[in-house]
Amino acid sequence: MTLHSPFHDDNCIFCKIAAGKIPSRKVYEDDDIFVFDDINPWAPVHFLMIPKAHIPSMAQVGSEHAALLGRMMTLAPKLALEKGCKPYPEGGYRIVTNTGAEGGQEVHHLHIHVMGGPRPWLKG
Ligand code: 5GP
Ligand code: ZN
Repeated sequence: MTLHSPFHDDNCIFCKIAAGKIPSRKVYEDDDIFVFDDINPWAPVHFLMIPKAHIPSMAQVGSEHAALLGRMMTLAPKLALEKGCKPYPEGGYRIVTNTGAEGGQEVHHLHIHVMGGPRPWLKG
């Protein structure tokens, strides 16, 4: 079935990943959130957390998204440890959301990068 709702964009690569139409290495999934390994990792651990709903970027979020974003941010530390990041403070991870062209955003479906693992990293 093709969804034509504002919550889904047929041309969006991350909507397709969340729907399983493009394969990915899944880390976590629930009704609202999908998490998968970045195809081009900058660090030994590098995964992306996305809402299943198509929200283009942080520039489009409103108070209606507060619970969803709160759940994503509180899930990130748990998944980072599961993926092999060492605990805080010796280990840790970096949480990044690029927004817009000058923010370095390439895929216009809101995503949270979680990067970690032993340094050096390729970037960052
Ligand atoms: P941005 O620059 O928009 O913040 O980050 C986009 C990220 O998505 C990049 O780190 C890139 O490697 C990742 N990415 C782009 N296309 C795919 C894909 O098809 N599969 C996966 N797993 N990651 C992707
Ligand atoms: Zn999308």
